[in-house]
Amino acid sequence: MNLHEYSRKRDFSKTPEPRGSVKIGTGAPVFVVQEHHSRHHHFDLRLEHEGVLASWAVPKGVPESPEKKHLAVRTEDHPLAYADFEGTIPDGEYGAGEVEIWDHGTYTLNTWEEDRIEVVLQGNRLRGRYLLVRFKRAGENEWLLFKAKE
Ligand code: MN
Repeated sequence: MNLHEYSRKRDFSKTPEPRGSVKIGTGAPVFVVQEHHSRHHHFDLRLEHEGVLASWAVPKGVPESPEKKHLAVRTEDHPLAYADFEGTIPDGEYGAGEVEIWDHGTYTLNTWEEDRIEVVLQGNRLRGRYLLVRFKRAGENEWLLFKAKE
């Protein structure tokens, strides 16, 4: 786990995003969903794991009912400090546009495997058991995100 790709993509003299570092958290792991008004509007799901925020861009957002499976594209790990980030990434910078926290909370980890992650989210909007399953026939970074039936 490292933040090299995160740092490489950003100029911290221009973006208000946190520089951050790999840091093992204490207590229950956190998650955040940020609404990102970039050129292609999307949501970013981030799960604290091994000192960073494992991250996925979710064009249609996190499904709130079990009938829907949404595409989630794995992106670079972000620092834990990013879970509190809201603000405007300036024009010309990576991810230019406004970032707002859509939901946040803690989660319980059930499974973290290379191709399958199962968590129980305890957020304000999102609550319950969620799965991320790597969608192998598509690209390397493409996953399906869905809510488990109770
Ligand atoms: Mn984003």
